[in-house]
Formats: sequence, structure tokens, C-alpha cells
Amino acid sequence: MKFYSTKNKNNRVSLKDAVLTGMPSDNGLYMPEAIPVVDSGIIKKLDSMSFQEISFEIAKKFFDKDIPVPILEEIVNDAINFDAPLVKLTDRLYVLELFHGPTLAFKDFGARFMSRVMAYFIRETSGSLNILVATSGDTGSAVANGFFRVPGINIIILYPSGKISSIQEQQIATLDENVIALEVDGTFDDCQRLVKKAFLDPELANVMKLSSANSINIARLIPQLFYYFRAYAQFVKNNGAAPVFSVPSGNFGNLTAGLLANKMGLPVSGFVASTNINSVVPEYLENGTYVPRKSVETISNAMDVGDPSNFARMLDIYDNDVNLMRKNIEGFSFTDEQTRRNISDVFKKYGYILDPHGSVACLGIEKYFNVRADGRGIFFATAHPSKFLDVVEPCINKKVEMPERLRSCMDRPKRSVKISSGYDYLRAFLLKRYG
Ligand SMILES: *Cc1c(COP(=O)(O)O)cnc(C)c1O
Repeated sequence: MKFYSTKNKNNRVSLKDAVLTGMPSDNGLYMPEAIPVVDSGIIKKLDSMSFQEISFEIAKKFFDKDIPVPILEEIVNDAINFDAPLVKLTDRLYVLELFHGPTLAFKDFGARFMSRVMAYFIRETSGSLNILVATSGDTGSAVANGFFRVPGINIIILYPSGKISSIQEQQIATLDENVIALEVDGTFDDCQRLVKKAFLDPELANVMKLSSANSINIARLIPQLFYYFRAYAQFVKNNGAAPVFSVPSGNFGNLTAGLLANKMGLPVSGFVASTNINSVVPEYLENGTYVPRKSVETISNAMDVGDPSNFARMLDIYDNDVNLMRKNIEGFSFTDEQTRRNISDVFKKYGYILDPHGSVACLGIEKYFNVRADGRGIFFATAHPSKFLDVVEPCINKKVEMPERLRSCMDRPKRSVKISSGYDYLRAFLLKRYG
């Protein structure tokens, strides 16, 4: 399958080029040239398939011409080696737990899959590949973990100094070897801007191979479709009807994956774009104009994004028609105070502990239910609550247990490199180290 740029549909490249470059040179985003359809026979028997079987079925639809099918199956089985259980809170309200991977966040799905696809493609090329990643928290740890010690690949992770949790920082900045953590004196938007600039810098391109691993990479987006199919299968078994999905959103990769799953034929009764006060997409849905702005810090910091990168893909899916988008997506945003109160309420009502991102998604679906008495569906819990102890514990008045794989990285020494947010500093660092 070929992939086109959202800026120019005639600019088409192979999967290998789309994955290894990450982003087209015209500054658009890659999209699959055709959205494959999953036939209804398969949709009906999803609930008799394992998560890995479902994932392989979806992956084949996009990649079977570009990666030999037995290798693709290995990649899927190796990457998706943990579950995404659906937990029932009430008859109409379910939570999909996406935090059972190695770094306890949903980004493990994308990062683990993408790293293995890239490793497959670079086996055939010479010279090492340098992957630049801007992270507002969980991307960095998932990517670092996914690529750690993959031969021929260096990972350079940029994160905003002091603006991610200490647990996230420990997961990113203690690995070393092929994983370099750059601690940027600035915001997440600064980090994203630096990375984008580096990709468009012709002089860097001359001396080193650069690639991205953000949610803009198509190999990170596709595996996020897998759990929509899985969740649907678990949900219809008990409900009969198609669910609404409430997705806690920052760069909107997760939600975009849901829109693609829906286009492939997955029955969905609607989507809720749930954000913190960085609410440019809910505002777009409300008044039809997109006004990107500087991000604001919140307690759900992986969603502190003022100009979501996947918005271009959302526009592409709906042919730039806000009315079409409105038919499928509702947007709601919530303050930190609401998010905290909801963590406390949900714990009191159901004994269930949410992290701040999951809490935003939960608020979104409840607001959706307020106007649809017959609504039923699923919200996503994208991170384990123990990654946000400082926020969660005071809300529930109780200790949150930290899984062992998280606890073990808390004692390792931090090894970040501090840089200022001016582009020249990043450029000089890259040229010196990898040029
Ligand atoms: C990245 C992230 C999000 C936002 O996902 P997008 O695909 O960027 O919208 C939500 N929750 C957590 C925990 C994250 O790490």
C-alpha cells in the first residue's frame, strides 16, 4: 500500500519510506491511500479471536504487500504481548485499560509495533538511523523502552524540563546506550517545534539519517486501531449495540486511529474528543474555526498540546468539512479541578482508581450521556494511576500500589543533557554527536 501526504495527495510513497522518514518533506502527514475494509463476517467473529489474532488481521490489511506475512505475524505477536481488558463500571459505562504494557501507558502499543517495523526495514539498509522524539511525558518512555538496544538505531528524546512527572523522567533519562534524553528549557510545544525544524533542515539531512517516532509516524498510528476492534468485540458481547468511544486527547493520534477503525467498518455509535483546557479541537467542533495556541500546563500533562499534530489527518478524513466531523465526534474539555473531583467520585462510587488522563475521558463520556439517556460506551484509561501518584493519592486518600516494572527504574541515576529551546543548540548537538 502507498501513503500520501495530507498536503498533496499526489505525493505518494511506500510504507518503508513513510515509516523511515516519518513525515513528508512538504510538512504534511502520511495517510493510507485506501482505507481497507474488514468484512462483516470477521467483525461478527471478533469475540472468538485472541487480541493478537485481531491485531494481525488488521495489520495485514495495511501491510501485507510490504512486509512478508510470517514476519508481520511475528512483529504483531512480539509487540502486542499484553492485554487491553475492558472493565465494566455500570451497565452502560466501561473502561478500556490501555496501561498493561511495559511502561504502563497506551503508547506502548504504538512504540513497540513501530520499533519492530523499523528494525525490519533497516535490516536492509546501511548506516544508523537517528530517531528524534518530542515528548510531553509518556511518548518518551514508551519509545525509549520500545527501541532500547535495537541495533542500528539511536533515539534522541526531547522533553520539557520540569514539566513531566519524575516517574516519566526516570523512565526516559536513565537508559543511556542508544537512548539520549535532551532536557529542554521550554515547553512541549518548543520540543515539537525543534523536532519539526530538524526534519526540515537540509544540512542535517545531508549528514545523518533522521526519522521520527511521534504519533505522526504511520507505524505508530495503525497498531492503535487494534484495541478499538478488541474493545468492540468485548463490548457487544454484553450489550448488543455499538459503543461510543471517549478518548482522552492531546495530539489526537489515539482518536484518529478510532476514526480509521470506524472507516474500516467497525460499528461505532460516536466519538467523544475529551481534552483538558487545551481545547482547540472541542472549540473547532463548536464554532468551526481552528485556532492553535500555546499549550497550558495541566495535571493530565500528556495532553498539554496547543496545536495537535494529528488534526491534519482528522481534517483529511472528513474532507475539511466540520459538519461531517460533528456528525461523528463531540468535543468536551475539563479543568484540573473537575478532573481531580472525578478521580475522587469514581473511586467512591465504583472503587476504581483513575489516572488524570482517564479521568478526563470519563468526564467526557458522562457529559455525552447527560444528553443521551440511551448512550452506552467505553472510555479509555491511557495510563496507570501509579504514574501520577502526586495527583491521584490526595484525591482518593489512599496509597496507590506501584507495579514492580515502574518501581525498579526509580532508583537509577538520571543522565539527561540540558539544552536551551533555541534551534541552534539542538542542531549543534546533533552535528557533533551524529554528524
Ligand atoms: C499521549 C497520551 C494521551 C494523548 O494521546 P494522543 O494520541 O496524543 O491524543 C493521553 N493519555 C496519555 C496517558 C498519554 O500518554
